[in-house]
Amino acid sequence: MTSGHTTGSLVGVFALQGDVAEHVRVLTALGARVRPVRSATDLAGLDGLVIPGGESSVMDKLSRLLGVAPAIRQAISAGLPVYGTCAGMIMLAESIANPIAGQQSFGGLDITVQRNAFGGQVESFETALEVPAVSGDPVHAVFIRAPAVLRAGPDVQVLASVPASCLDDPDDPDGGVPVAVRQDRLLATSFHPEVTGDWSFHRYFLEHVIR
Ligand code: GLN
Repeated sequence: MTSGHTTGSLVGVFALQGDVAEHVRVLTALGARVRPVRSATDLAGLDGLVIPGGESSVMDKLSRLLGVAPAIRQAISAGLPVYGTCAGMIMLAESIANPIAGQQSFGGLDITVQRNAFGGQVESFETALEVPAVSGDPVHAVFIRAPAVLRAGPDVQVLASVPASCLDDPDDPDGGVPVAVRQDRLLATSFHPEVTGDWSFHRYFLEHVIR
């Protein structure tokens, strides 16, 4: 894949749970070929994978039950570019601060996340984020029962943060909380660009993370 050439990339969308259709729509509109991923064989030949927003504990259960989890872990270790939004970020996190009993992630991204860190559904909020690495314009970001990044390892690049005062229970209200991170081929956002019509993160994934 030549850098900057997005048309024709074959991108999988994890399709056992979550807002799959929204990601399929954006990726298709940006010129990618898209394949829903429900089994290990669906991963063959992919240039990248998107893990949608939804409910990470259900994604975890279904992906283990249906046997696709080990193959996704292996693909991540082998360097498959992956973009996770919201629940997808949780699935990529090495560590979950407040899992439900027995909840596992795929891992790969050296972060610790806290699920529902900005409060419940009614505390959902929208904001314009400065993300210079991704877009010259502020990115329209929607947070719905979103995770926060509590810890980011040394190889993790923080692309955007929000004031800690947005958190349900901030330790340090004057600090910042990362909400968009990248570690080499893994990209994750606490928010949902697939539902806003702001495609800058999908474009960034196709043009700069898949290469
Ligand atoms: N709170 C959800 C979870 O823990 C994520 C919410 C979302 O993806 N909008 O998986």
